[in-house]
Amino acid sequence: MNLEELDKAYVLHTYARNYTNFVRGEGALLWDEEGKEYVDFASGIAVNSIGHAHPKLIEAITKQVQKIIHISNLQLIEPQAKLAQKIVELSGYDMRVFFANSGAEANEGAIKIARKYGQTHFDNKRYKVITLEHSFHGRTITTVKATGQESFHSQNFAPYPEGFSYHNGIAKVYDAIDDETVAVMIELVQGEGGVEPLDKKEVQELATFLKEKGILLIVDEVQTGVYRTGEFLASNLYEIEPDIITLAKGLGGGVPIGAVMTTHKDIFSAGDHGSTFGGNYLSTSAGLAVCEVLQEHYESGYLNETLIYFEEQLKSVASEYDIFIQDVGLGLMRGLRVPSSEILSTIIKNSMQEGLIVLKAGRNTLRFLPSLTITKAQIDEGFRRFRKALQGVA
Ligand SMILES: *Cc1c(COP(=O)(O)O)cnc(C)c1O
Repeated sequence: MNLEELDKAYVLHTYARNYTNFVRGEGALLWDEEGKEYVDFASGIAVNSIGHAHPKLIEAITKQVQKIIHISNLQLIEPQAKLAQKIVELSGYDMRVFFANSGAEANEGAIKIARKYGQTHFDNKRYKVITLEHSFHGRTITTVKATGQESFHSQNFAPYPEGFSYHNGIAKVYDAIDDETVAVMIELVQGEGGVEPLDKKEVQELATFLKEKGILLIVDEVQTGVYRTGEFLASNLYEIEPDIITLAKGLGGGVPIGAVMTTHKDIFSAGDHGSTFGGNYLSTSAGLAVCEVLQEHYESGYLNETLIYFEEQLKSVASEYDIFIQDVGLGLMRGLRVPSSEILSTIIKNSMQEGLIVLKAGRNTLRFLPSLTITKAQIDEGFRRFRKALQGVA
C-alpha cells in the first residue's frame, strides 16, 4: 500500500484531505517528498505561529523532553506556572489560567466557569450561553452546539446540551438575553465562519452592557490570540476587558495546548475541572518559547511591519482580479471573498500546483494565515505563485 491507500484504509474519513506528503519545513516554507517547495500561507490553520522548525522552539522542547515530558497535574510543573504568568502579563488582564489540550477543550472550560458563576452568583439559576451566527467554537458535543452554524448541528449526534442559542449580529444578542443568561461568547474575528471581524464599537458597547448586567463576556481567541491580529490578544486591539478568554491554536507553535483564563480567579476549587495532559512539561515549555519569540517580534516592530506588508500585497492582488468580491480580515488573519465554492476549490488546487498553500473559510472565502514570522521575500514569492495560480481562473 502507498501512503494514501494506507491512510484511507486505516484512518477514519473525517477530512477532505490533500495527499501531498510533506517531509520538511523551515520558517514559512515546506517541502514534499519529491523535493518540491511550497510557500505556506496556512501555517497549519494558524498553529505554526513562528513557522516550521524554529530553532528556539526546537531547543526549548528538546531540552525539556530530555528531562521530563509529563508528570501529571498532581505535581508542581515549572513551565506551566511560568507560561501562566507570561500569558497573564502579556494580556495585561488580572486573570488566572487553566491549561487544556485544544481549542474546544479550552471553550469547554470557559463554559464550565460560566455555568458555575451562574449557579453561585444569582438567586435563580443562570446557565444560558449566547453565541453569534457564523461562529465556530469546536467539535465536542457542547462546543459544536455553541457553534452558530446550523450545518454543524446534525441530528446524527443529537441530543445536544441545553442552554445554547445563536443570533445574527450583536444587535440581536440584546434581544436574546433573559434572566437565565449567564454569558455571551464571541470571536472578535470570526475565523472558520469567513474571516469576519466584528465592529469594534459594537463590541465595546456590548461589553459595557454585559458588565452592567453581571453577564459574562467570553472571548474565544483560539484563532485570534497570541499576536495573530497584531496585538497579543484581539481583546487588546478591541480595548475590552472580557471575563473569560480562551486560547489554543498559535500558543504551542504546533505542540497541542489550549488555555482558558478568567478574572474570576477563585471560581474553581480542587476537583471542579481537570485534564490529564493539560499544561504538561512538553506543551508549556513549547508555549513559553513561542511567547518569547513572538514578544520580541512584536516589540521590535517586525510583526507590525509584516502584517502591513502582507495586507498591502493582498490588497494589490485583490484589486487586479475581478473575481475577488471583497477583502476581509485583520492582522495576519485575512481573506478574499470569491463568487462560488467551485472557484474557491480551483484556486486552492491551482495554488498547490504552483507551490503555495492557502485555505478556505466558510463557503466562499479564500483564507490566509501565514506564520507571524514570515519574511517579506517569502510573502513576495507566495503572491508571485498566487498570481500564476489565478491564470485561467480569473
Ligand atoms: C479552531 C477553533 C476552535 C477549535 O479548536 P480545536 O483545537 O480544533 O478544538 C475553537 N474556536 C475557534 C475560534 C477556532 O478557530
